[in-house]
Amino acid sequence: MSECIFCKILRGEIPSRKVYEDDLAYAFHDINPVAPIHILIIPRKHLSGVHEMSEEDRALVGHLFWVARRIAEDLELSPAKDPTRGYRLVINSGPQAGQTVFHLHLHLLGGREMTWPPG
Ligand code: AMP
Ligand code: ZN
Repeated sequence: MSECIFCKILRGEIPSRKVYEDDLAYAFHDINPVAPIHILIIPRKHLSGVHEMSEEDRALVGHLFWVARRIAEDLELSPAKDPTRGYRLVINSGPQAGQTVFHLHLHLLGGREMTWPPG
């Protein structure tokens, strides 16, 4: 059985605050939010990161972005409805980029002004 913390969340062995789920993906609130809205969107399939994606995972990773779009609209973050609004999608790939959990995840950040470049 996988020791991966996000696989444990998917199996219900570690509690999480669910935002969305379907047969391919699961979304939940980050335990240490860095923005008023900070949601993680993960595939049910364990992939350690974008760097471990194979060709067969292309549609799955695309689906994560589709879920992000849907959640952002539900939470009224989408500039498609209000052009003054917005959100940020982040994937850290590898330790130097700040990845700490090696199960692919898309950060959805919103609810405050963002700056660029990120740290
Ligand atoms: P990253 O640094 O990109 O690998 O992001 C990992 C994220 O997972 C961090 O933002 C953590 O706060 C978050 N995290 C770690 N453990 C948990 C947990 N048990 N529940 C929710 N979020 C978590
Ligand atoms: Zn995992």
